[in-house]
Amino acid sequence: YLAKEGRTGVELYQQDKDRNSPERLGLLGDLRRAVDNRELRLHYQPKVDLATGEVRGMEALLRWRHPVRGPIPPDDFIPLAEQSYLMRQLTEYVIDAVMEQAARWWHTGLQVQISVNVSARDLLDSALPDQLEAGLSRFRLPPEAIQLEVTERILMGDQAYTHETIKALAALGVPLALDDFGTGYSSFIRLQRLAASEVKIDASFVQRLSSSEDDERIVRSIVDLVRSLGLRSVAEGVETEEVALKLTGMGCDMGQGWLFGRPMAPADATVWLRERVGVQEAEYVEI
Ligand code: C2E
Ligand code: MG
Ligand code: MG
Ligand code: MG
Repeated sequence: YLAKEGRTGVELYQQDKDRNSPERLGLLGDLRRAVDNRELRLHYQPKVDLATGEVRGMEALLRWRHPVRGPIPPDDFIPLAEQSYLMRQLTEYVIDAVMEQAARWWHTGLQVQISVNVSARDLLDSALPDQLEAGLSRFRLPPEAIQLEVTERILMGDQAYTHETIKALAALGVPLALDDFGTGYSSFIRLQRLAASEVKIDASFVQRLSSSEDDERIVRSIVDLVRSLGLRSVAEGVETEEVALKLTGMGCDMGQGWLFGRPMAPADATVWLRERVGVQEAEYVEI
């Protein structure tokens, strides 16, 4: 009883210190400097067609190597940045880096779509489509060279459907994917209205496919729903052959996970792609 009460005390304390603790503010300051100090890098994780094994895309995932603390996972610093204006700056940095990488791959025969994670608030910022449009034209890339991933949270308000930014993105032709699907409370109608082209099924359901029949039913119904809306499904966090086979059997379109490839530094990702992507006639373009 005492131990339990003690634990609750700690939890309350941690919740309290969550927002403005010196630790969090310190980390936020470090993150601000990290952008200028080039401590941030992108790694790339493949997305494959479950039926054929073909590469369908690469997802850009942010990595931060803190000079003192070492690597800090995005789940520890993205939420922090999201609570400040810093997120806008991070997303700008990520999109610039992704555009350069896309140009390098696209114009050397590795024509693979790169997905960028953006936060819900980024998607309502009119500077975003402008930045994308400028990057696409500067690097002579088609709009499908880039995809934006946004979590289900975007579907919570009504703002998302009417907002100019969403319309501008649609007009630009940059596709949208809904990330971490199943963890929020979005309805089918809302999903359809967002006009996303892909739905990524959250890893928490995918990873329990081998042990839980409930999760099997959930994943199957998401896959069916996604198909009935004319969208493509992507399973996140595929770690085993057994899970991959189940997903293929359900008709899930694509998979992502350690079974197929971990997030890789750009040089390693290039080698990985060269081994797998049938190199089309290289299209070298002056940049
Ligand atoms: P996410 O977009 O859902 O990305 C998938 C996460 O699952 C990544 O974690 C990836 O490394 C991890 N993962 C991939 N395959 C497997 C697997 O087979 N097993 C397991 N256990 N994990 C796997 P990561 O890189 O730590 O990123 C976490 C989250 O941070 C991302 O979730 C995304 O929401 C956010 N994030 C990462 N980079 C960015 C970014 O540039 N901008 C924004 N706004 N968010 C980002
Ligand atoms: Mg993602
Ligand atoms: Mg996800
Ligand atoms: Mg996630």
